[in-house]
Amino acid sequence: MSKTIELNNGLLIPRVGYGTFRVPEGADLAAAVKTAIKEGYRLIDTAAIYENEASVGQGIREVIAEGLVTREELFITSKAWNDGISYEETLQAYDDALARMELDYLDLYLLHWPGTKNDFIPQWEALEKIYADKRVKSIGVSNFHVHHLEKLLKETTIVPAVNQIELNPLQTQKQVHAFCIEKGIQIEAWSPLMNAEILEHATLKTIASKYGKTTAQIILRWQTQTDIVTIPKSMTPSRIAENIAIFDFDLDGEDILLIEALNEDGHYGPDPEGFDFGR
Ligand code: NDP
Repeated sequence: MSKTIELNNGLLIPRVGYGTFRVPEGADLAAAVKTAIKEGYRLIDTAAIYENEASVGQGIREVIAEGLVTREELFITSKAWNDGISYEETLQAYDDALARMELDYLDLYLLHWPGTKNDFIPQWEALEKIYADKRVKSIGVSNFHVHHLEKLLKETTIVPAVNQIELNPLQTQKQVHAFCIEKGIQIEAWSPLMNAEILEHATLKTIASKYGKTTAQIILRWQTQTDIVTIPKSMTPSRIAENIAIFDFDLDGEDILLIEALNEDGHYGPDPEGFDFGR
C-alpha cells in the first residue's frame, strides 16, 4: 500500500499524520513535531484555535534547517476558526496562520466547523480565492455533515479536497463517508483513538493480540487500509513511533468487519449539528 492518497486536485496526502490538539505552545511541542518528522510523519495538523501554530512552525522549520526533509516533502494543515467571520476576515486568518508558523504556504487549509448558522459560504469563497491565487495547495472543510456539503457544493465552485471528521471504531460516520467518496472528497479522521478512551476495548484488544500489534496500531491500520487519512496525536516519543509503524501488516477482511460492527453512531467530541464555536 502506498503511504499517500491522491486528492481530487492531484495533490498527494500522507495516509498517517501527526495531530497537535491540546498541546500548548512551547519547546516540548516543537521537539515533538521534530520527533514525528524524524519517525517518518510528513503530515502535521494544527489549527488557529489550538494556539500552538508558532511552535508547530518552529519544529517544521528546524527540521528543514537540519536538512532532514524539504518543505515540499511535508504536508502542513491548519484551520480557520471560522466563528461567523467574513470573507475578508477569512483571507486575513490565512495570512495570520502563515505569519504565526513562519511558513510561505500551507498544503491544506480547512474551515474548522460548519457552525449552526450556515454562514460558511463567504468563508469558503475566501478559501477558493486563496487557492485560485496559488497560495495554498488544497482547501477543505472539517466537521461537515451531508447537508452542509450539499449546500457548499450547490452554492460554490471548488469541491473540498478533504473533510476532516471525528471517526473511530465507535463512530464510523458511514453516511458522510459514503457521500464524500461519491463526491471525491477525502475523509480524514480526527481523534482516531477517541483521545485514548477506546484503547482497552475488548474486541480491539483481541484483534491486536492476533496480529501482535497494539490496539492503537489496529485502529490506525483499519483506517489507513480503508483509505481514511488519520492524524493521531501523541507527545510520547515511543507512541509517536508506534502510531506510524503500521505499514508492515494487513488486517483480514473479517477483522475490518468486526471493527466496523462496533459502530454506535455516538459522539466523543462535539456534534457538528449543535456546535456553535463554544459560544
Ligand atoms: P487521539 O485520538 O489522537 O488521542 C490522543 C491521546 O491518545 C493522547 O492522550 C495520547 O497520549 C494518547 N495516545 C496516542 N497514541 C497512543 C498509543 N499508541 N498508545 C496509548 N495512548 C496513545 O486524540 P486527538 O483529539 O488529539 O485527535 C487527533 C488529532 O485530530 C488532534 O490532535 C487534532 O490535530 C485533530 N483534531 C481535529 C478536530 C477537528 O475539529 N477538526 C477535533 C479534534 C482533534 P500522549 O500524548 O500522552 O502520548
